[in-house]
Amino acid sequence: MCEFCHKHGEGKKWYLQAKNYSEDLLSDLRRRKFIADFFAHPEELSASVAKLEQVERAPKYVRAVMTPYLSNRQKKVHFGQVLPIEDVEQIFGFVTSIARLACMCRQISVGSEQRYCYGISMGPGGGKMEEIIRAIDASYLTGPDTAGLEAISKDEALTSLQQHEKEGCCHSVWTFMTPFIGGICNCDRSDCLAMRSTVTYRVPVMFRAEYVAEVNPELCNGCRQCMRVCQFGAIGYSAANEKVFIDPRKCYGCGICRATCTKDAIMLHDRSAVPIAANMW
Ligand code: SF4
Ligand code: SF4
Repeated sequence: MCEFCHKHGEGKKWYLQAKNYSEDLLSDLRRRKFIADFFAHPEELSASVAKLEQVERAPKYVRAVMTPYLSNRQKKVHFGQVLPIEDVEQIFGFVTSIARLACMCRQISVGSEQRYCYGISMGPGGGKMEEIIRAIDASYLTGPDTAGLEAISKDEALTSLQQHEKEGCCHSVWTFMTPFIGGICNCDRSDCLAMRSTVTYRVPVMFRAEYVAEVNPELCNGCRQCMRVCQFGAIGYSAANEKVFIDPRKCYGCGICRATCTKDAIMLHDRSAVPIAANMW
C-alpha cells in the first residue's frame, strides 16, 4: 500500500474508496474555487513548467531543497498516481458519470485539442464537478457540449481508454485538493506536463502504481515491442538471451507494455510483493 493508501484509503487502495470521489468533498468552497481556477487558467500550468526548468538548472543544493518542497506541495493539492486499466475499470464500476474533455497539457504542449482526460463524478448528471467546470470560462475547451464536456457511458469510456493504452498512454488518477479525485488522465511523456515534471525534471507529482511488471522469459520472443511503449525506460534487452527484462526500480506499474505483447509474456505483481520496489513511489 502506498503512502496515499495509508492516509486516505484506510489500508486499502485509496483510489478505490468511493468517499474520495464524493459530492460531500465538493461542498468545500475552497476546493470548488481550486477546481474553477485550475480549469480557467491553463497558463498557470505553463508557468509551473517554466519554474521547473529553472529548478533543473539551479545548483545542486537549491535542487535538494526545492524538489521535496515542490513535490510535497503538489501532494496536498493536485497529484497523480499511475494505475493499470483493471483498476480504472473498478473505478468506473462505482462512479455515476464520466465526461471526456480536452487535455490541458496537450493544449499547452502541442497547441491542439486532444481528448485524453476524463472527469469522473458521483453526482447524477455529472454532479457538482460538472457544475463547477460549466460555470467557469473554459473557452479553450471546445467540443460537442458547452465548455467541451462530453458525457459518455462507462462502456464508451473504457473502450476509449483501451485505445489510449494501445497508443502507449499510461492511465493515472488525479486529485483536486487531496484526497478528492476528479479525473483520470492518459499520459504520454512527450506531451504530459506531469510526466515531464516527474521523469524529466525529477520533481515527482505523479507516483508509481501499486504494481510492478515482470517478463516471463519462457514466453518472451525478444521482439522488443514493449520497449517502445514504456514511458519510464524500465525495459531493457539482453543480447545474451535475446529477451527483454524489466527493472523493478524503474517500473511505474502502468501495465501498458502488456497491451503490446502478443505473447502474453508480461504480468503485473503487487508492488508490496517485490521487495526491491516495495517502498518506491
Ligand atoms: S512484447 Fe512481449 S514478446 Fe515482445 S519483447 Fe516484450 S515481452 Fe517479449
Ligand atoms: S515496464 Fe512498467 S513502467 Fe514500463 S510500460 Fe511496463 S508496467 Fe509500465
